[in-house]
Amino acid sequence: MKTDKKTSEKPEAGQWLPIFLRLAGQPVLIAGGGVEARRKIDRLLKHGARVDVLADSPEAPLDDYHQRSRIHLIDALPSDSSGYRLVIVATGQESLRLSALAFASAHAIPVNAVDDPENCTAILPAIVDRAPITIAIGSGGTAPELARMIRSRIEAMLPLSLGPLAQLASELKDSIRSRFPQLPHRRRFLGWLFRDAPAEAMQCGSPARARELAAQALEDSAFDTTGSVALVGAGPGDPELLTLKALRLIQEADVIIHDALVDPRILDYARRDADFIDVAKRGGKCSTPQLRINNLMLEHARAGRRVVRLKGGDPLTFGRGGEELQFLRSHGIGYSVVPGITAASGCAAYAGIPLTHRDHAHSVHLVTAHGRNSIDRLDWTSLARANQTLAFYMAVSRLAEVQANLLAHGQLTSTSVAIVENGARPRQRILTGRLDGLHDLAVRYSVESPAMVYVGNVAGLAVDLHWYGAPCLTLGDSLPARSASA
Ligand code: SAH
Repeated sequence: MKTDKKTSEKPEAGQWLPIFLRLAGQPVLIAGGGVEARRKIDRLLKHGARVDVLADSPEAPLDDYHQRSRIHLIDALPSDSSGYRLVIVATGQESLRLSALAFASAHAIPVNAVDDPENCTAILPAIVDRAPITIAIGSGGTAPELARMIRSRIEAMLPLSLGPLAQLASELKDSIRSRFPQLPHRRRFLGWLFRDAPAEAMQCGSPARARELAAQALEDSAFDTTGSVALVGAGPGDPELLTLKALRLIQEADVIIHDALVDPRILDYARRDADFIDVAKRGGKCSTPQLRINNLMLEHARAGRRVVRLKGGDPLTFGRGGEELQFLRSHGIGYSVVPGITAASGCAAYAGIPLTHRDHAHSVHLVTAHGRNSIDRLDWTSLARANQTLAFYMAVSRLAEVQANLLAHGQLTSTSVAIVENGARPRQRILTGRLDGLHDLAVRYSVESPAMVYVGNVAGLAVDLHWYGAPCLTLGDSLPARSASA
């Protein structure tokens, strides 16, 4: 039958639909009188439910509840549904367990059976309570311990002041709406309320002060609803290399203007309804000219949005971040900068290359080899000195020149080199060799951008110290097959 087929199909989003029930004043039946039953009773009472308990021999704590009229003891299952919204089976007593399950099933009442996921049609999730904000974490009954672990992490992330702040925002809803009829401006005000002075006052235990600040801001016709721009470093790849601040700003952003180098997994942290503007630079050409990027930042900030200008690595290292800040300053737009892990250090770490080492290198040079212009302007004499590490950005198409210039200025042919392609990403490759074989190494393995090129004896340590992804390749190795997408 058609309907049968439908129900047997595996649902797309798992079989549990999260839902919040308003149980205040509603009847709930609990079968059981032991510790587990008591736990559930406590939870239900907290949410205002009217709790009927059917237990063979209620233990002392329940007696106490009974005396205080917090629960009603019943001595048999009713013949009709009695309006129960939920049945909880928390008893080891087999006949009681079975009859309570049968009762729930006969009246189609959602049932939660403790330690018996097979018989549950409802699950009480682990919750983080910041009323009126409630976060429910469920594992479909399969891993309650894991759900509890996740709960404690979320608990740690969310200050206790969150609930009272949400309450305050809800009380002020109408005034906020009339003072800031436009959504971006309203969001900006709420962002200020939840993060800035009122949030601090609330955290310091001064709800009255928080309320006063909010009321003042609503009266203040000059309350600044201009947006701002955060220049944020996304690191070299692995999303876990983001700073906590970068993560927060990405999560809060209304608009994210990002480059090609930003790992797509990082964009997944943003709000679903954020605007994503891809200003990718490809093949060394700007697909979006810098002026257009600048104007995009300006336009969105002026409209009151929180703009994140997200750049690969560190925003102020070879990424025109400085020019963007100058532009914002000259147009009076507020900004902040969140440093990121630059490719030189991120790729070195993920390849097991110590950038400095007491035996090999006492300084590190971050060098761009992008285009003829930069190659010609470099001070090759100083770059060719011993006991230092050179980390070249954007050098893939210039390796013959890098090699020739270093050798011509006295660098030893045997100096170690390493190329780290797609560093800190799932397809990372490390190629190691000697300076006189640098260009051949890249050609042999068809190295593609993005890649970092390290010159200096620390580069050779990758052979022993690498730990992430595939082992190092050298000129002498036989060519491994690359995947079709590579
Ligand atoms: N602002 C960035 C650099 C931008 S220039 C930063 O701080 O890292 C772009 C160059 O960075 C690329 O050509 C490449 O040399 C290097 N790069 C960035 N991400 C990389 C990665 N995951 N693996 C290897 N090289 C990378």
